[in-house]
Amino acid sequence: MQLLEERILKDGTIKPGNILKVDSFLNHQMDIPFINELGKEFKRRFSDAPVNKILTIEASGIGIACLVAQHFHVPVVFAKKAQSLNLDGEMYCTKVQSFTHKKVYDVILSKKFLNADDHVLIIDDFLANGCALHGLMEIVKESGAVLEGAGIVIEKGFQNGGDNLRAKGIRVESLAIIDSMTDDSVVFRKDNWEA
Ligand code: 5GP
Repeated sequence: MQLLEERILKDGTIKPGNILKVDSFLNHQMDIPFINELGKEFKRRFSDAPVNKILTIEASGIGIACLVAQHFHVPVVFAKKAQSLNLDGEMYCTKVQSFTHKKVYDVILSKKFLNADDHVLIIDDFLANGCALHGLMEIVKESGAVLEGAGIVIEKGFQNGGDNLRAKGIRVESLAIIDSMTDDSVVFRKDNWEA
């Protein structure tokens, strides 16, 4: 998506460890009209999918998912990072390896909010190795819901999480895919623009 690629080039900064910081417009300070345009684009790309729920993971996915959900007119449910596990059977539980903090944490979602009647679109800010997405997909699988696909704002294509999921038949739509990145350059995947 041209608007997003231009904004990454203008305002993104690259940190050691292959981390792209976009916290001036996406995941710390949030540019709402801009993210709303991303929401419209996700709706356009998934217009054929019977999505009735958007699923994300706290924290930075939540704000983005809310703006996306306005275009689908469906609720957002988010997986919470758990301090302690309360295994009373009321929660779906899984483990996620954090890309940015390098630790494994438990995530939970109340069984009240996801079940076999649901058609789920997962939304997240970044896709790197795919650990966050795998965790969310585990929860969807356990609930019996149908996974319609995943909508990602920025995929770091060189870390392969997205391509591995596509190879397994999961529909992954990323609005920008970065194929390589150095301290002073970002190269986007060419065939990723439909508009
Ligand atoms: P994965 O689980 O796919 O390896 O990493 C995705 C998660 O790690 C995202 O939810 C995001 O929070 C974080 N992440 C991965 N790479 C980056 C990055 O380059 N910049 C930022 N800001 N977050 C990232």
